[in-house]
Amino acid sequence: MDLLSSSEEMVAWADNVRRQGLRIGFVPTMGFLHSGHVSLMQRLRPRVDRLVVSIYVNPLQFGPNEDLDRYPRDPEGDSQKCRAAGVDAVFMPADLYPDGFSTAVTVDRLTDGLCGASRPGHLDGVTTVVARLLNVTRCHEACFGEKDFQQLMVVRRMVRDLAMPVQIVPGPLVRDVDGLALSSRNKFLSTEDRRKGLTLHRGLFAMQAATGAGETDVAKLLSLGRAYIDVDDLDYLELVDAESLGAIDRIDRPARALVAAKVGSTRLIDNVAIGPELSWT
Ligand code: AMP
Repeated sequence: MDLLSSSEEMVAWADNVRRQGLRIGFVPTMGFLHSGHVSLMQRLRPRVDRLVVSIYVNPLQFGPNEDLDRYPRDPEGDSQKCRAAGVDAVFMPADLYPDGFSTAVTVDRLTDGLCGASRPGHLDGVTTVVARLLNVTRCHEACFGEKDFQQLMVVRRMVRDLAMPVQIVPGPLVRDVDGLALSSRNKFLSTEDRRKGLTLHRGLFAMQAATGAGETDVAKLLSLGRAYIDVDDLDYLELVDAESLGAIDRIDRPARALVAAKVGSTRLIDNVAIGPELSWT
């Protein structure tokens, strides 16, 4: 497995692979890898000839009072997990952006609500870093987790709108045995935080089960879900059109229930599919 620590090395590696006519798959991450990240690697591995994973904590996607400084890091452990997953190259740049970097990529509308509303600038930071990463890795396919559902939809939109020559492959959300969505930030949870965090997926699953039993009224589903949730600060619980992320009153199309909340000082997000299945094509 190759370790690449600059954009120049990454580009040279990718150009060399492409010259041989081989296809490159890419999984972008911020490291402190867990089974959710590994599932994305496993999803792409059989689809491509060479697999690249990036590990980069992107300052552009953190707000001034967020947890950039304490974001967990484990470069050694991450490398081992990548090697075990059959990764060909780990791209771990100290700095990703060139001197004088002055560009931002913004996707409108899809970023208005949910995390876009509660974390101003966050999704612009994501699209900007993803655009650069897709370019330097020269990848044919890139896998993003449904764990960050809004991010996945925003990245798909950017790739379509800008005709970027890459296929975005969604990866299912992976949960811990108790149901908590796996996240690098779960490391910060105390036993009590974790108990509270678990109420998020219980609320979401209750909404999903009620829809399965025939309930289609979004207001009723939301109040049902809210009744399960016991957290320190509920940022949002919403049920939206899965494609546009816009408001809906009834479940008459693919929808998504999404939640974000703080337990202790840790921000958690989770989501489930509601209603008819979303077509990813
Ligand atoms: P992060 O390191 O948190 O920026 O995540 C990197 C990628 O892994 C993103 O595409 C995430 O959506 C994905 N990811 C993180 N947690 C999970 C999970 N529990 N299940 C599936 N994908 C995940």
